[in-house]
Amino acid sequence: MLRFFLKIVKNYKRRHAGLRPAAVLLLLGLCGGAGAAGESVVAASHPLAAQAGMAVLKAGGNAVDAAAAVQFALNVVEPQSSGIGGGAFLLIHLAKTGENVVVDARETAPAAATADQFSAHAFRENSESGLSVGVPGTLAGFAEAQRRWGRQTLAAVLKPAIALARDGFAVTPYLAKSLTSPRAALQPETRALYRNEAGNPLRQGFWLRQPELAHTFELIAAQGPDVFYRGEVARAIVQAQRRSAMGPDGIGRMTLADLAGYRPEMRTPLTGRYRGATLVTMPPPSSGGVALLQALALLERFPLGHAPGYGPDETLGTHVTIEALRIAMADRARWLGDPAATSVPLDRLLSPERLAAVSRAIDPEKRLPAPPELSAPEGRNTTHFSVVDAEGNVVTCTSTVEAAWGSGILVPGYGFLLNNELTDFNRVPRAGPGDPGANDVRPGMRPRSSMAPTLVFQGRRWWLAYGSPGGPTIISSVLETTEELLDDGLSGDAAVRLPRYAVLDGAGHTLVERSMPQPLLDALRARGHLLQETDRPIGSVQVVGEDPVTHERWGAADPRRDGTVLRY
Ligand code: GLU
Repeated sequence: MLRFFLKIVKNYKRRHAGLRPAAVLLLLGLCGGAGAAGESVVAASHPLAAQAGMAVLKAGGNAVDAAAAVQFALNVVEPQSSGIGGGAFLLIHLAKTGENVVVDARETAPAAATADQFSAHAFRENSESGLSVGVPGTLAGFAEAQRRWGRQTLAAVLKPAIALARDGFAVTPYLAKSLTSPRAALQPETRALYRNEAGNPLRQGFWLRQPELAHTFELIAAQGPDVFYRGEVARAIVQAQRRSAMGPDGIGRMTLADLAGYRPEMRTPLTGRYRGATLVTMPPPSSGGVALLQALALLERFPLGHAPGYGPDETLGTHVTIEALRIAMADRARWLGDPAATSVPLDRLLSPERLAAVSRAIDPEKRLPAPPELSAPEGRNTTHFSVVDAEGNVVTCTSTVEAAWGSGILVPGYGFLLNNELTDFNRVPRAGPGDPGANDVRPGMRPRSSMAPTLVFQGRRWWLAYGSPGGPTIISSVLETTEELLDDGLSGDAAVRLPRYAVLDGAGHTLVERSMPQPLLDALRARGHLLQETDRPIGSVQVVGEDPVTHERWGAADPRRDGTVLRY
């Protein structure tokens, strides 16, 4: 308790430099447990999506309604990353009951999928074909969340997105850059929408209207999700995923029955402890939460954030973090998959005894010999947003179409992109002696994810909500954000700005942003780490939080995209 109290004081001091400790103690005394209703905060990766969420909150919607509005608006203004043609994980904290729930709206493999369906082709060919399209879950997931906990209708929360799609918006620099991807112009429909008359990618400032997408949202507003899962949109999806970048082998296997049978899963989140706080995070079929809790357990014995060499950006702290992530990534490759298809040994993976023993093997001076797991290619796009409403309900959501621009297939006449999430399954089946093939393609199953929307509590009190896009790099981005907020006591704004690195596999292949300090990179290389500098930003973390002392709500949005925080 004393440690927890001192920690609060320390964090508070860092964020409010200049306030004398005596004043902090007085404030603590005055505010302890007060719990006045706070502000609402939305943090999303595009200003117009944040505005859509805020408009719904101002109209009396709660965090669940606002999150749905953010999602539909993102489909319009950040179409390359998420939308109704993809999947999502929502982690929801309900203020009234204190309950935390997961809505798993991950895409599923069609009933006709087979373990070897991808093995004859290269990753790229698979990812640009209908064969990689999973049965979309995002619309069903948000509709179900709203049905259970929302206050507004689906039609009401679709309104901002309908207006944005119909009336248009100015292409931002971030979107303009993404539009130069060849994936945004693979098909006649994407060329017509995302290229100008000269055939060039739309530029920053171009006024982009998407009447077909507006029409689709209007259909959903009028008829409900059924029009998408059973009606005319379902027929168009099935037709569209018959496109293939690799001849007859690449034709999608989704049927009307697959769409009609799609159900989001309600899941109990994973819970773990770190430095006296409680973390609530994503269970399988994501590997993200398991890997996060494993890495934190491995790291707890190190004096991160306060001993020389262990602060933010410092050699020992970064070294041991990379080692912890390597161990977690090696477990991920072998054991993680859809729990409906494989028995994920959570008790063993998260066993404190095993993790304590493994942690003892981490040497602050030397790199561990390489475990053999090598990474397979996975997408690094997607989006994350977080919302807290006046009552303290929180939604933190990572949402995806897998790669940027998904499969590159825009449903003709309906204006939304289809995901290529099934490439998150093992390309070549692994099942065999000693390997459960946990993530092999199986009919009706969900591909393993890395998405890790996460909540942090102090006692029973909600404190933080965050997550990130980035495929396998999500795990590192969320772990580093956790260290920066919990160990280093940084503000949300400072945390989302720090340079990132991402461990991709057990062998320790690690991407580093170019803004990482050179002396740190040299010191890590001297320890044998396998670093590769990248120009692509790692992650896009959107955080909302409540100050444990003042109960003031705050948000932080990642400058790597068009991140925006709005408060009300
Ligand atoms: N498909 C990835 C996953 O579920 C997300 C892709 C991304 O973040 O870009 O882990």
